Order: sequence, then C-alpha cells, then structure tokens
Amino acid sequence: MNKSCSTCNLTFEKEVGFFYGAMYVSYGLTSGFFIIAYVLDALFFQVKVQYLIAFLVLSFVVLMPITYRLARLIWMNIFYAHDPNCKNRLMEETILAESQMTHQENPKESKKFD
Ligand SMILES: [Zn+2]
Repeated sequence: MNKSCSTCNLTFEKEVGFFYGAMYVSYGLTSGFFIIAYVLDALFFQVKVQYLIAFLVLSFVVLMPITYRLARLIWMNIFYAHDPNCKNRLMEETILAESQMTHQENPKESKKFD
C-alpha cells in the first residue's frame, strides 16, 4: 500500500501502529463472510460440515490479500476524509496562498512609506 497520497502527500499512517485497528475491521469482514456463507449453505446447498469448513478456510486464505487491504481502507476512512479531487484542491490552496501573500505584502509596503 502507498504510504502517502501521491498528489497531496497526505500521510496515511497517522502514527506508529495506526493500522493495528484494521485487525478489528478485518475480523468483522471475515466473520461476516463466514456467517453469510454458513447461512447460504444452510438454506440452499446443505453440504457436509467438513466441506464447508474446507471451503471457508480456503476462501479465507485466497481472500486474505483483499481483506487485508479492504480492512485498512475502511479503517483509514474512519479517520480521514480524503478528497478524491485533492489535486484540484491543492491547486486552489496554492492560488489562495499566493493571493494572500500578495495581499499581505501590500500593507507592509504602504507602512514603509508612512
Ligand atoms: Zn491526496
């Protein structure tokens, strides 16, 4: 995963160990998937328990890279409100800062004359 936004340099890991909390999100996602798979099996398929467990373990291992990233994304979005148009926002902030600098310079120059 990227450590920061490539456009506005927003650092995603706020502090050391920030993403430990994503483990809880990952636990919730995995538990939800297991419950849904169990309910679907009980309602429609009714396979043997051994096969269901084998399917769940296999799907857990296969889906782990996706779950890992998804949990981090969800955890991060609880704390950040990252603007998808941060490139445009960054340009607007730069323009605003430049205009403020020119406004600040003008009163100083007028004081020099006083
Ligand atoms: Zn950004």
